[in-house]
Amino acid sequence: KKYFLIIAVFVSAISLKAQKVDLNQKKVDAILAKMTLEEKVGQMTQITLGVVGTQTDGEINPEALKDAIIKHKVGSILNVTNHALTVDQWHNLLTKIADEAKNTRLKIPVLYGLDGIHGQTYTLESTLFPQNIGMAATRNLELAKAVTKVAAKELRASGVRWNFATVLDCGRQPLWSRFPETYGEDVFIGKTMGAAVIKAYEEDGLNKTTAVASCMKHFLGYSASRNGKDRTPIYLPEIEMREYYLPQFREAVKAGASSVMINSSIINGMPVHASKYLLTDILRKELGFNGVAVSDWEDIKRVYAWHHVASTPREAVAMCVNAGVDMSMVPSDFTFYDLLIEAVQKKEVSMARIDEAVKRILMLKMKLGLFDNPYPEENAKANFGKAEYQTLALDAAHEAMTLLKNQDNVLPLSKSKKYLVVGPGAQSISALNGCWSYTWQGKEEQWYPKDSKTILQTIKEKVGEKNVLTTTAKGFESPENFDADALTKSAKNADAIILCLGENAYAESPGNIADLALDENQQLLAKAAIATGKPIILVLTEGRPRFITNIEPKINGILMAYWSGKKTAEAIADVLFGDYNPNGKLPFSYPRSSGEIVLYDRKPAEDIREVFNDDVHTGYNPLFAFGTGLSYTNFTYSNLKLSTKNLTGDNNLQVSVMVSNTGKMDGKQTVELYSRDLYASISPDMKRLRAFQKIDLKAGESKTVSFTLNKNDLAFVNTSLKTVTEAGAFKVMIGDLSDEFQYK
Ligand code: BGC
Repeated sequence: KKYFLIIAVFVSAISLKAQKVDLNQKKVDAILAKMTLEEKVGQMTQITLGVVGTQTDGEINPEALKDAIIKHKVGSILNVTNHALTVDQWHNLLTKIADEAKNTRLKIPVLYGLDGIHGQTYTLESTLFPQNIGMAATRNLELAKAVTKVAAKELRASGVRWNFATVLDCGRQPLWSRFPETYGEDVFIGKTMGAAVIKAYEEDGLNKTTAVASCMKHFLGYSASRNGKDRTPIYLPEIEMREYYLPQFREAVKAGASSVMINSSIINGMPVHASKYLLTDILRKELGFNGVAVSDWEDIKRVYAWHHVASTPREAVAMCVNAGVDMSMVPSDFTFYDLLIEAVQKKEVSMARIDEAVKRILMLKMKLGLFDNPYPEENAKANFGKAEYQTLALDAAHEAMTLLKNQDNVLPLSKSKKYLVVGPGAQSISALNGCWSYTWQGKEEQWYPKDSKTILQTIKEKVGEKNVLTTTAKGFESPENFDADALTKSAKNADAIILCLGENAYAESPGNIADLALDENQQLLAKAAIATGKPIILVLTEGRPRFITNIEPKINGILMAYWSGKKTAEAIADVLFGDYNPNGKLPFSYPRSSGEIVLYDRKPAEDIREVFNDDVHTGYNPLFAFGTGLSYTNFTYSNLKLSTKNLTGDNNLQVSVMVSNTGKMDGKQTVELYSRDLYASISPDMKRLRAFQKIDLKAGESKTVSFTLNKNDLAFVNTSLKTVTEAGAFKVMIGDLSDEFQYK
């Protein structure tokens, strides 16, 4: 009886949900049936806030708003600004927009979207967390979900229901200025963490004040720019695209992503915005995605004006809409609106295609509850700025910290010694947060919360003001004439130098660089610091790996801190002085030089050395390998066990290993399982991350960690572009252990 009841409740819950979807669908169809062509095209139009008001203070120009919403029937607005607004300013702004939409014939609400990529970017006092690259270093999916929930709540508290996050582009080109927005070079981390984040944004149900619609960015291949500059041409063989760039999107679709944003660039000469193959055949038919596809900034125009694939602006509009773009981030005028109307009238775009796009947009608005209440929700405000978010921000920053070098256990440092703290990173807040932090570029420190701390401050808190020595040399980009003699003098009484180098915040094209070398100013500073002969601890706050190869041999300890948000400086000081045991793992290979950017899973592999046995054919030899991350305790691996040596068909293989904390400090450790297909029809990857688990181990404690693999975890894309698992021998690697098995 009891079971019967449980089943009955379960079945009726499912059918209620189905009915609701069905009901929404009916409502959408009913609205669509009443809409004129102009109203439909208006829904497909997204403009930027600057068109209807001032991006600076969120003031609305009532006439411009009328022109956009009443005359041009605009369905969506976004913003990218140099100013952050208060929650109340956000409510005020969004209320005016919602009021105006009520004056339209069908009262269709406006959908507002923005980039809250590591917390709610544009609200004053919002909580900022590590960038994706730092979250990838945590290898902690639960933490990633928790952080995302807070971002969703603070967005929603600000009245914003659509977030242009998360970036699923695979970070295989470290020069790329958006590398910090990625989950790094590994596909498995990208797809598991990406999907967890998408789920966390949406899983409460979009009509709840704790959820926002997510956006998978940027479909597809955006990060694979050949020269590393933003929005520059990509050449990507399909086999590679499917192996390294597509799986993250496939998983995100399964996780329930509501929207997708298109890659601005061209792949093999074809603008992605105009590619029916990518936007319809792959995204819709193969991945089964049924949400809203929004263009990126001005990209439909660029199909004509930049990429020259269309010979008129209208042809570009028709091409992109026919390829599968549902909404155009125009965003600064109404050209798209005018041209799409013309294109439909001239039968260059079918009404069926327009209806399909509009249905998706209306459905998203319906699911977000905008038809029931288009206004920013008063009760959502209570979810803003809770004290516990600060704790979570510290947890996330802590777990991101990645210790790359600790020669002779120079770290942790004693709290009763004297330190010279130098480098542009030491006194910067923006260099700890990076892009999309209160402003687009994240550089404008006046918008940061007043209680944000610099590294210098947190070190002073650890060792006392009198034990911290400083010197000049602050700027990142502009070489200042810092006084090397003064530095030597200040270093005289120091027991060690804490050298804070890296990158100040940047986003997109302003972050373009010619190579990964640190700017001259920082190199000179590093050399001067080294010349003092004191022990040196290098703290890197950077979004991508800048070269430190020349100085590394003279540096005793290296902590990679990424751009880890509000609590970066606290987390750094905690690690440096032993109040926190670091456990982050590099989510990319830290290259030695421009000519040696090699990914961990690709050739040249270590066996190249075996075959050639010379110095010319170098193998994978980065400065720091993917997965590097030291601890203050020791973890040893033993007892690697495979449940079978002959895996067949769809069966599972259990792999277990014992991990022991043999050191003196409690700590966290990510146990990573890699596999290698020993012989395959195309030259197999050297190794691939197939699973990981993060565990806590007290000093002296041991735990057995088990993984379940099946044939899908061993698959690769073959020359027929099929994902296959070929019979043969495989190797599994965990820590310093490995074993082999056969698959048939
Ligand atoms: C970026 C997108 C972003 C959009 C809106 C574009 O320049 O490429 O990632 O979502 O601007 O801010």
